[in-house]
Amino acid sequence: MAHVTVKGLVIRETDFGEADRYITVLTAELGKIEVLCRGIRRKKGRLANAVGLFCYSEFTLFSGRRYTLSDAEIDTQFWGITGNIEQYALCCYFAELVNMAADADSDVSGLLPMFLRALYALDRQKRPVQTVKAAFELRLASELGFSPDLTGCAVCGAAQCEAWSLLLENGALVCSGCRKRVGGTYYDMPQGVLDAMRYILSCDGKRLFAFAVNAQTAEQLGLICERYLLYHLDVHCTTLDFYHSLFQMQ
Ligand SMILES: [Zn+2]
Repeated sequence: MAHVTVKGLVIRETDFGEADRYITVLTAELGKIEVLCRGIRRKKGRLANAVGLFCYSEFTLFSGRRYTLSDAEIDTQFWGITGNIEQYALCCYFAELVNMAADADSDVSGLLPMFLRALYALDRQKRPVQTVKAAFELRLASELGFSPDLTGCAVCGAAQCEAWSLLLENGALVCSGCRKRVGGTYYDMPQGVLDAMRYILSCDGKRLFAFAVNAQTAEQLGLICERYLLYHLDVHCTTLDFYHSLFQMQ
């Protein structure tokens, strides 16, 4: 069997048997791969840590009919995530989204750096979960090819408007005059939300989570980005239900 060495982020773990585990690893070179880790649940220390959820590691794998773990070294660990229930729930949701996106056979090369930056923004920079979530969702929609077009009114071409709306079905920005004439599911787009969405879609990926909005804008932005992504992915995420349940309990 050949050896292969690859860096990747563990985005899912599935236990089976008495001590075995499959991990799903998002890599730059190989895309999303499944790796069999024999006996890993009986192990402690360096190797067990390196294959833990949301750990970014360098994996040495046997490559045959499937990938089997030979060794792993931690590159970056995000210790705080597993100790913070809101951050952890959010990252499980990101993992479910990325897992589905990678299955869809689209170009997923942008997803690994985006996920790593989200982990960094949450764990190291303590960015708020609400804005990290919104930025991740909208940028993911863009990565997958259904970015909204926020340049101006999609119907009449107006560049200025007092009360913009976003048309859910095709991601078009529509002015107040045209909204009356075109049917569909609309979300009101206050200027603060529009500015934040334009930033998320156009900024350098390294700056994706480096913005701040007030509480009201964060709430509106969060709602629109979530609805927009899930409508276009046409999925239901159980991890998102869990994330929301944390806030309903408060
Ligand atoms: Zn218009």
